[in-house]
Amino acid sequence: MPAPLLDINRQNAPLRDEILAAITEVVDTGAFLKGPACGRLEKAVAECCDAEHAVGCASGSDAILVALMALGVGPGDEVILPSFTFFATAGCVSRLGATPVFADILPDTFNIDPADVERRITPATKAIMPVHLFGQSADMTALAAIATEHGLDLVEDAAQAIGAAYQGRPVGAIGRVGCISFYPTKNLGGMGDGGMITTDDGELAERMRVLCDHGQAPRYHHHLVGLNSRLDTIQAAALGVKLERLGDYASARSRHAARYAEAFAGLGDTITTPVVAEGCDSVWNQYTVRVHGGRRDELQKELASKQIGSAIYYPIPLHLQACFAELGYKPGDLPESERAAEEVLSLPVFPELAAEEQASVIDAVQEFAATKDAARAA
Ligand SMILES: *Cc1c(COP(=O)(O)O)cnc(C)c1O
Repeated sequence: MPAPLLDINRQNAPLRDEILAAITEVVDTGAFLKGPACGRLEKAVAECCDAEHAVGCASGSDAILVALMALGVGPGDEVILPSFTFFATAGCVSRLGATPVFADILPDTFNIDPADVERRITPATKAIMPVHLFGQSADMTALAAIATEHGLDLVEDAAQAIGAAYQGRPVGAIGRVGCISFYPTKNLGGMGDGGMITTDDGELAERMRVLCDHGQAPRYHHHLVGLNSRLDTIQAAALGVKLERLGDYASARSRHAARYAEAFAGLGDTITTPVVAEGCDSVWNQYTVRVHGGRRDELQKELASKQIGSAIYYPIPLHLQACFAELGYKPGDLPESERAAEEVLSLPVFPELAAEEQASVIDAVQEFAATKDAARAA
């Protein structure tokens, strides 16, 4: 049986009437920007993240950009972040004229290695930006200790992790500020782009709100150079409908992950299943295995031949991207990030994945592992 990596329609179709009613209300009132649904969503997301404040913006990338702008990151500053992440984490740093400093990851969780962060601190370091990759929090205890000791801001790239928790505390406001994405494939996915910035710091929240509106406060009085980055009311209305189900979505993803872990337990020679670190509640934005023996692409092909979706997040670590060549990193500089890029494969884990579909993913992976064992025995 085929199994898609992700089928967004299965999540949205049952909510179609509710979402359309919410959108219709926006169309009827004409409050397309900063409408009531925006404020409601900000309040709900702040609550979900246990943050005092949440500021809507146009995308997860803008959330990062605006958070860094509000913290005063600019030319001459360095921001330490993982190399094994989506491009936006580093792109936003560069766009502000600051320098992304790439740290390596921990092999078990794929998240930034606090010891490597500490080694890369210089007098120019301004902030540390961990990514809660694939839905699991980074080691926030260690990172917060480093940030405090060196007087650095801790910015959470929580784009993939809304609803995840670290030692019982939701991600988003554990650090000074958190950045969330509502890109359609994220755990809380909109019908287009959207993002939100979360913080306990009221002054910072106000600065971010003003920056998102051209830096004007009041209107036509610009004390800051901001940008136009707003969350559309239509998006906020649709997201409000889905936010109520976020806990159910996470539970379903978690059940799928547990089923994979059980089914793959004996396949350690072929694949390693993802590790949930102590104190972490993952929301499983991705279920990412490592494939050993240089056979990752082979497994992906095998799955594709059975119409089973999979994806490589991410095939090239950021320190080796062409656009960062002038930073001078070479292959071998961040070995764990490079090894992950060669070994990872993400399997279907979206909430609506049917049991029979998951069974066919499991069968296919088990078969692949058995072929290898047979080849070895021969
Ligand atoms: C998706 C994502 C972003 C960017 O979010 P957009 O809403 O697509 O701009 C940033 N960082 C990470 C880790 C992401 O996965």
